[in-house]
Amino acid sequence: MSTTAYAGPQPVQDRLLPVKETYKDIFHEGAAAEYEKAMAGARELVLNFLQHNRQPFSGVSAAELKAAFAAVDFDTPLPDYDSLFNEVQELYVKHATAFHLPAYIAHLNCPVVIPAVAAEVLIAAINSSQDTWDQSAGGTLMEQQLISWTAREIGFGPLADGVFTAGGSQSNLMGLLLARDYYAATHGNHNIKQHGLPVDASRYRIFLSEKAHFSNHKGAALLGLGEQALVEIKTDERFRMDPELLEAAIIRELQQGNIPIAIVATAGTTDFGNLDPLAEAGRLAAKYNLWYHIDAAYGCGLLLTEKYRSLLNGIETAHSVTIDYHKSFFQPISSSAFIVKDKQYLRLLRMHVDYLNPKDEDYDDLNQINKSIMQSTRRFDALKLWCTLRLMGKQQLGVYTETIIETAEKAAEVIALDPELELLSYSDMGVILFRYAPESHKTADLDALNQYIKKAMFNSGKVLVASTRVNGVFHLKFTMLNPLTTLDDVHFILRTIKQHGAAWRR
Ligand SMILES: *Cc1c(COP(=O)(O)O)cnc(C)c1O
Repeated sequence: MSTTAYAGPQPVQDRLLPVKETYKDIFHEGAAAEYEKAMAGARELVLNFLQHNRQPFSGVSAAELKAAFAAVDFDTPLPDYDSLFNEVQELYVKHATAFHLPAYIAHLNCPVVIPAVAAEVLIAAINSSQDTWDQSAGGTLMEQQLISWTAREIGFGPLADGVFTAGGSQSNLMGLLLARDYYAATHGNHNIKQHGLPVDASRYRIFLSEKAHFSNHKGAALLGLGEQALVEIKTDERFRMDPELLEAAIIRELQQGNIPIAIVATAGTTDFGNLDPLAEAGRLAAKYNLWYHIDAAYGCGLLLTEKYRSLLNGIETAHSVTIDYHKSFFQPISSSAFIVKDKQYLRLLRMHVDYLNPKDEDYDDLNQINKSIMQSTRRFDALKLWCTLRLMGKQQLGVYTETIIETAEKAAEVIALDPELELLSYSDMGVILFRYAPESHKTADLDALNQYIKKAMFNSGKVLVASTRVNGVFHLKFTMLNPLTTLDDVHFILRTIKQHGAAWRR
């Protein structure tokens, strides 16, 4: 046995380990040169993506791309970063959808802001885990401060709390979960977490618009309530939940012996970018003593605008709110939050385990795991929003959103005035639904024609639009989330649509 006392861990260079080769890929102090090399290569790839992409998609077919993957052999690693990044370029980056180009106008994908992208470098390398204070420290405080800030923007008081989540779907699930458990706890003192669903749970009813996001349906299914628990309310001419029909539905369900537990309003529908009447739905929630959840996954961007903030009036009457920073705050995926008006509600989720977050620990309030569902180890996504707000300020983000909405309004006008196009509806935000329907094609199968246009543009990769069916009718869909998209870009996209439309042969 050695007589010298153990002097504590030595720097790796001083150890007798074959550091250079065997451990060069582990993030540790002996691998700084390797880290720099890898990052430089990755950075090169990103710059190339940024500077040389001229269209939002390469147009590659799935068959072609699949064929290129056939040569990959995981049993034979590549010799160096150059080979690695070449392969990643060919198999991925070259064909990746470029959300930042104005001709990408399809789904709810915003261009990202640079401070958030820089934060991702730190998030991956330092790799804090947000579940407990002892795995994150300052990371937890940053997350909590951003939650408080968002809650204040919503108009919640000092009791508000929340947690970053993987996305709006998860946040909506949390809203429904709290609605369910809160009802059972406050009516009959039933603890669902411990005892499972009460016998009358099959009669629980949740009211939402027929245009609400499908994650609510998935959530109701996961929660054991089934999709049958959702009562879909018809919308008005601008696809917003009709409050009179909402109240009538609540009364009808009560008369049928069912148990209304919650209203879910959508602030910014995925398909139309419109906001349900938030204040009126809130009044009905209060009148019938229902949990009120607002899905502001898309509409949260309005929080930062001066001109359009009033569209969110009533959001402060919610019990819980879904916020998707990766939809409307120009954040890289993932970055989302679930916010409640009163932190007591989150106690319904709390579970303690001795090894991770023991009840008697003195920093119980700092263990964010107490507020999350089905996530223990969790990325420090909050750092992206932190860097964004600290460097750019919320006003800048608000101005971006205002610019987008103004361009969308003008674009809708252009479409409305164009005799070859048929505008379906105006949007509170940046979604435009329309179809190509020139006089010359009035008797044609317009669904087939517009489907052809969308597909032809996707195959060329030059313009990417989305689509949806409204009352069975196929429509092309613009989702505008890029403040750099100008009316000229919109004209270019519309010209492309018409060119493909004119070339269609039935
Ligand atoms: C996108 C969206 C969601 C789901 O959010 P994810 O982050 O994609 O999980 C929920 N609600 C609305 C209205 C959305 O647009």
